[in-house]
Amino acid sequence: MPFRDGTGPRGMGRGRGMGRGRGLGMGRRMGSSSGENSTKTATIVIDPEKCTGCGKCVSVCPTGALSLVDGKAKVDQLRCKGCRACVAVCPTGAIT
Ligand code: SF4
Ligand code: SF4
Repeated sequence: MPFRDGTGPRGMGRGRGMGRGRGLGMGRRMGSSSGENSTKTATIVIDPEKCTGCGKCVSVCPTGALSLVDGKAKVDQLRCKGCRACVAVCPTGAIT
């Protein structure tokens, strides 16, 4: 009598974790086309032709981003937070 011992359950495992396809929280992109503000680029621009070196912008900048270099205002973009206070005080419109 062929007593096969080994024909036992071979596929008992059910639920093979196919992944439930969770389609819900795909995460919306905020509509900004690739690359958010990871790298900050020029927040303000100083026109050296217009700058008279009066230093007003330097004194109003809350972050110390501005300084006078060779009689012209210069901005440290890494410090600038874009408040534009300097733009408001510049008498010559050198900062945009
Ligand atoms: S925009 Fe604001 S933080 Fe930036 S340089 Fe001007 S005053 Fe400073
Ligand atoms: S306020 Fe305007 S003119 Fe005066 S230093 Fe700054 S950028 Fe130059």
